[in-house]
Amino acid sequence: MEALVGSQGLAIAFLFAMTLGNRLLFPSVTKSPRPPEPFPWLCSRCGRATVVPTLIDYQAAMKYEGREYDFEVPSLEVLQCGDCGEQLFDVDAGATISAAFRAKLGLLQLDQIRAGRKALGLNQQ
Ligand SMILES: [Zn+2]
Repeated sequence: MEALVGSQGLAIAFLFAMTLGNRLLFPSVTKSPRPPEPFPWLCSRCGRATVVPTLIDYQAAMKYEGREYDFEVPSLEVLQCGDCGEQLFDVDAGATISAAFRAKLGLLQLDQIRAGRKALGLNQQ
């Protein structure tokens, strides 16, 4: 695997981690509340307190069953440093990217899977 660099690498590594233990993007992580510290946060790259939630049009590229797919996630909320531009993708951003990827491939969304499992009397997971 190529070395993952930059914020896109972080996002890819995050999404890759979500695929572990499950064949497709199914985040087993639960939504965690944001830390209580008010924005802006300290930037891990430049050290300035200029990290705030920011809406970006995110160009994503993901592989599924050997094929690479490019798609855009418009108005994705990420945490971005206003000074150096470093971007952080939290759980919510990962879930949004995952949902956009599922829509792109015509796959069931997670809530549809949950509804289907419930209708079949299976446990929620
Ligand atoms: Zn910065």
